Amino acid sequence: MSFIFRLFAILLKRNARNSVSCKLNKSISREFPLVETDGMPLKASSFGGSFSWGVASSAFQTEGAPDVDGKGKSIWDTYTRSGKKNRNIEHASDTNNFYYHYKTDVRLLKEMNFGSFRFSLSWSRILPKGTGTINQKGIGFYNNLIDTCLENNITPWATLYHWDLPQSLQDKKGWVNRDIISWFEEYAYLAAKQFGDRVKNWMVLNEPMAFTSLGYLFGVHAPEKHGFRNFIPAMHHAALCQAIGGRVLRENVPGCNVGTTFSCSVVEPIDNQPKNIKAAARIDAALNRLYIEPLLGMGYPVNELPFLKGVSKYIKEGDFERLKFDFDFIGLQYYYRVIVKHHRLPPFNAIEVRPAFRGVLTNEMGFEVYPKGIYKILDKYSAYPQIKKIIITESGVCYMDFLTSGKVIKDYDRAEYHQQILSYILKAKNEGIPVDGYFVWSLTDNFEWGEGIVPRFGLIYIDYHNQMRIMKESGKWFKKFLMDKE
Ligand code: BGC
Repeated sequence: MSFIFRLFAILLKRNARNSVSCKLNKSISREFPLVETDGMPLKASSFGGSFSWGVASSAFQTEGAPDVDGKGKSIWDTYTRSGKKNRNIEHASDTNNFYYHYKTDVRLLKEMNFGSFRFSLSWSRILPKGTGTINQKGIGFYNNLIDTCLENNITPWATLYHWDLPQSLQDKKGWVNRDIISWFEEYAYLAAKQFGDRVKNWMVLNEPMAFTSLGYLFGVHAPEKHGFRNFIPAMHHAALCQAIGGRVLRENVPGCNVGTTFSCSVVEPIDNQPKNIKAAARIDAALNRLYIEPLLGMGYPVNELPFLKGVSKYIKEGDFERLKFDFDFIGLQYYYRVIVKHHRLPPFNAIEVRPAFRGVLTNEMGFEVYPKGIYKILDKYSAYPQIKKIIITESGVCYMDFLTSGKVIKDYDRAEYHQQILSYILKAKNEGIPVDGYFVWSLTDNFEWGEGIVPRFGLIYIDYHNQMRIMKESGKWFKKFLMDKE
């Protein structure tokens, strides 16, 4: 990996977590703050009756049971079993064991008064080899999960792909191979037919920018591939699957509400010098525009990122049309802001000014805690006139949580983070931005990819020694707050 790749990689949160720079629950004894918007107390009912209140999770991060009931291997099984010992990565196989505890977890989310649950399907649990033979026990697990949600009045929101590609498909080069289009179509069609009678809310991909760059450009995530020769075709095929998956779902799920999700970062220059402004524009194109613009018929942002011209080698006749799809909603996922300045090394000619040097509040992974960013993101994406509706499909913060002897987790900083985020969402909504849902990342603490089980994002604490679930104070805040949702 070249030097500049690593510089760019630190803009993407998952490679920047070696130093723990968290400002730990500095206000640990504080009572809940009451966030106010325009002088009014924040109320769930102010968001309106159609607003979806949910929590989000993903299959590999929570399910455990990697070799159970016929499940095939995914690239993350390979990654976590490769002998890496950092940050308890090897414990991926039994983090929360959601596969066995899903009933408890659905009950807990209901207890917190959420009405929606976003989870992902594990492709290799359903199709162990990625295509071909169907694993009925895998289908059975998701049927049980969906039915449990419905019995509890929880609306299921399913994501088709949250990063756990079947290993058998990676053995054929995974996202780099254009055949992934037909593999993905087969999987999407199966999921639609099996679950579409009860699941009406769907998301095609989770953060394509994150999984293609971290897994196929920087090699810091599974399947640990490097360089533009992997990234550019993987990017193009993921962008195609994003639109094609949308079409498959719409055609096969009657009454479907279909979206896809994007990682969004606020990107700002360190100052007003033209070269720093241009550097920020390049990073913004990479982090925020790369996948949404081809979807909206605007093509890839090649002006800011000339290396993307390399994609012409992989474009087939009709692809420009194939890349487009009019999703019912766009899922935005917001975690942090990056401040950027010019750097002489291509291809990005930009470097991040790390939060640690700026003296700002950071979370446990070293990222700036900047709730106002959600307002800027909503403002930015709502400027695309083609977007009909926005759902915040993830936002959250990881802090070090401590279990006290009274089994209380005083994560007031996390509660405050969500309150502030919500007050900015409400401001945007009141200004006419069509945002209509908020999903907290995450229901429970879980496996945080390259960071193992160290960072905790959940509203529910997991004691990894005995799988005990304990509602954190942030979860209790949501429980109270959501009591008056319409
Ligand atoms: C991903 C999650 C991840 C979260 C926190 C999101 O970008 O979708 O899988 O756990 O960020 O880092």
